Amino acid sequence: MLYGALEAGGTKMVCAVGNENGQILDQESIPTSTPDETMPKVIEYFKAKVSPELPEDDRIKALGVACFGPVDVRPRSATYGNILNTPKIAWRNFEMVKTMKDALGIPVGFDTDVNGSLLGEATWGCAKGLTDAVYFTIGTGIGMGAMSGGKLIHGMLHPEAGHIFMSRVEGDDYKGHCPNHGTCFEGMASGPAIEDRWGKPAKELADRPEVWELEAKYIAQELADITFTLSPQKIILGGGVMSQSQLFPLVRKYVAEYINDYISTKELRNINAYITPAALNGNQGIMGAVKLAVMAAETEE
Ligand code: ADP
Ligand code: ZN
Repeated sequence: MLYGALEAGGTKMVCAVGNENGQILDQESIPTSTPDETMPKVIEYFKAKVSPELPEDDRIKALGVACFGPVDVRPRSATYGNILNTPKIAWRNFEMVKTMKDALGIPVGFDTDVNGSLLGEATWGCAKGLTDAVYFTIGTGIGMGAMSGGKLIHGMLHPEAGHIFMSRVEGDDYKGHCPNHGTCFEGMASGPAIEDRWGKPAKELADRPEVWELEAKYIAQELADITFTLSPQKIILGGGVMSQSQLFPLVRKYVAEYINDYISTKELRNINAYITPAALNGNQGIMGAVKLAVMAAETEE
C-alpha cells in the first residue's frame, strides 16, 4: 500500500511516497516561500499520486503531514489542521489539512514536525518498541515531540518544551535570543543564539570547546527537567546544532551530574542509549509522516 508524506518545514517542503514499511519510494523537495507560491507545487506533486489514470495499487491511500508550528492538532477544534501564530507571517492561519484534503480527496493525518520525527523513530528507528520517548530538534528553533504511554502528546495544544526557562550558567551573561522570553532554552541554545552569543555561525565554532561546554550545560538542564517531568525511556536529539557530535558526551555527563542519582533506572545507567542521536539518517521526519498517513487511513476505515 502506498502513502503520501509531507514534511512541512520552514525552509523546505519534503514531499514523498512511502509504503507501510516506511520505505521511501519517491521524494522531492520544494523550497518554502509563501503559501501562494509553495503550496500549488506541493499539491501538484501529490495530485499526480492520486490520479485516476494510475492503476489503483499505485495511488496513495492517505497523506501524512508533519508540520512546522505552532499548529492546531486538536481534532475537534474549529481551526484543526491550521498553522497558528508562526513567526513566518505569510503562513499564519494557513489551513494545511483542509487545503490538502480538498485538493486530494484522501484522508490526511497531521501532527507537529517533532512529533512526526518521534513517530518515525518510534515506528522504525531507535525508539521502536518504546511507549515513552521524546525527540528534540535543536536548530533554528528548538522543539520537542513527546510520546507517553504509546500516544503522541498534544494536551491543550502541544508541548513547547523549547521555551522552558533556564538557570543561567555561571559566567554567562548572554541576553538571550527568544523574542518572547529572552533567556528560555531556545533563547540560550538554538543555532541563532549560538551565533549571536559567539559572533560566528555555530558550525564555524566547532573547534571552540567553551562553546560546546556551555551549550551542553543548557541542553542538559532541559533534558534533566524532561527526565523528571515526562520520565521518558529515551531522549533522541536531532537538528543542525546536534550535528556537533562532540555535544553528546558532554550532554550525557551534565545530565548525570544534574540528576545527581536522584533517579536510578537501567535506562539512566546506560546513558549512551538514553540520550542518543536519531537513527533514521535524517529520514525520521518524512518516515513519521508516512506513519501519520497509515494511521489516518486506518482511522477512516
Ligand atoms: P531548521 O531548524 O531550520 O529546520 P536545522 O535543524 O538544520 O534546520 O538547524 C539550522 C541551525 O543549526 C542553524 O542555526 C545553524 O547554525 C545550526 N547548524 C547547522 N549545521 C550545524 C553544524 N554543523 N554545527 C553546528 N550548528 C549547525
Ligand atoms: Zn522562548
